[in-house]
Amino acid sequence: MYSIAYNRLWCKGCRICLNVCPREVFELEDAVDKDGYQRIRIAGEESCSGCMLCAFLCPDIALEVKKC
Ligand code: SF4
Ligand code: SF4
Repeated sequence: MYSIAYNRLWCKGCRICLNVCPREVFELEDAVDKDGYQRIRIAGEESCSGCMLCAFLCPDIALEVKKC
């Protein structure tokens, strides 16, 4: 099992994590927020394989994956 720490306020909604995750753990929020970003949310943490791609590639260091 892995847990994903997500700092929503650091996310700029670039969708890199969404596109690289092989387990479809992420999804987009429903709309652009007041800061002008359509950020992501964690939708399937239980499916995470711990590959770390999202954490390595997030340009805003908004994701951290830990084994639990
Ligand atoms: S560690 Fe890998 S499987 Fe887990 S959320 Fe990130 S990209 Fe997806
Ligand atoms: S890669 Fe980082 S900045 Fe980009 S959508 Fe994912 S969490 Fe947000």
